[in-house]
Amino acid sequence: RIVDPAAVEGDEGRVEAALRPRRLEDFPGQPRVREQLALVLEAARRRGAPPDHILLSGPPGLGKTTLAMITAAELEAPIRVTSGPAIQHAGDLASILSSLTEGEVLFLDEIHRMSRAAEEMLYLAMEDFRVDIVVGKGPGATAIPLELPPFTVVGATTRAGLLPAPLRDRFGFTGHLDFYDTGDLEAIIRRSATLLEIEADDHGVHEIARRSRGTPRIANRLLRRVRDWAQVHGSHVVDLAAAEAALALFDVDASGLDRLDRGVLEALCRRFAGGPVGLSTLAVAVGEEPDTVETVAEPYLVREGYMIRTPRGRVATTRTWEHLGLEPPAGTGE
Ligand code: ATP
Repeated sequence: RIVDPAAVEGDEGRVEAALRPRRLEDFPGQPRVREQLALVLEAARRRGAPPDHILLSGPPGLGKTTLAMITAAELEAPIRVTSGPAIQHAGDLASILSSLTEGEVLFLDEIHRMSRAAEEMLYLAMEDFRVDIVVGKGPGATAIPLELPPFTVVGATTRAGLLPAPLRDRFGFTGHLDFYDTGDLEAIIRRSATLLEIEADDHGVHEIARRSRGTPRIANRLLRRVRDWAQVHGSHVVDLAAAEAALALFDVDASGLDRLDRGVLEALCRRFAGGPVGLSTLAVAVGEEPDTVETVAEPYLVREGYMIRTPRGRVATTRTWEHLGLEPPAGTGE
C-alpha cells in the first residue's frame, strides 16, 4: 500500500484535534494563565462585550491553539483560524477582517510571521475596529474606511520578542505558557489514554510524562508510540517496560531529550568545545534552520540547565558534559 504523506499528517492532525480539551475546566496545567484567562473571559461575559485582544506566547506544543479554541468556546463565539505566514498581503487580512461577525474570535497563529503591511493594518483594526480598503493604484488611489464590528484577536507566537511594540501593545492580556511539570503531564496522558481507549498503568504513564520535555503534544505522541510497542511486543498495556523500550526505539533518552536536543548538545561540546558559539553556526553544525534550533530545542535545554545563552553565544554547562558522558576541557564550566 502506498501511503500518502499528507494523509499521514492529516491523521496526526485529527488525533491532535480529538485530544484537545474543549473547556477551560478540562485544561490541566498552566494554572496562572488559566486563572488569568478565566477572569478576562468571565468579566467580558458579564459586560456582554468581547474581551480585550489576547496574546499567547510560549514554545510549540504547549496549548496555544487549544486555549484559543477554548476562548471561543467559553465566549460561545465563532472562531476564524488563520496564521501569519498565510497572510502575506494586507489585502488577505482586509478580506478576513471585513467578513468578521460581531464578537467573533480571530485566531492568528504564528502572528510574528505576518508581513509588515498586514501588521500595520491589524493594529489599526484592533484599536479602532476599522480597516482602510485601498481602491485604485498610484496617485489616484483612495482609502475607503470600513467600520468593523467588535471582535477579539487571539494571537499565538513562539517568539513574543519578535512582535513590534505597537502590535504587542494592542493586546490587553498576554498569557505566557511555560513547560508543564510531570504531574500535569501525567493527567494529560491519562485523559488521552481514556479518549483513545489505551490501557495504561501508573508506571508507564509516569515514565512517558517524565520524558516528554514538559510538552503535551510530545506526551500525546509518545503515548501513541508506546501503545504501538505494547500492541506489537507487549501485553497491550502501556507499562514501564513498554515505555522504556518504545522510547529507546524512538531516540528519546533517559532524561527525555530527543535527537535534535542531543544533536545540538553534541555539536556544542564536541565541535565547539562547549562554546560560546553563535546560533547560526550551531544550527549549520546540526543541519537545521536557526529558527528551529532557537524555538524548538533551546527553550527546554536552557530551562533544564543544559545550555546558557550569553551575548557571545551558546555555552554548555557542567550538566551538558555529564549528560553526554564527556570530560569538560580544563578551565570551563558554568
Ligand atoms: P504550536 O505552537 O506548535 O501551534 P500550540 O502551543 O498551539 O503549538 P496546541 O496545538 O494547542 O499547541 O497543543 C498541541 C497538542 O497538545 C494538542 O493535541 C492538545 O490536545 C495537546 N495539549 C496542549 N495543551 C494541553 C493541555 N493543557 N491539556 C491537554 N492537552 C493539551
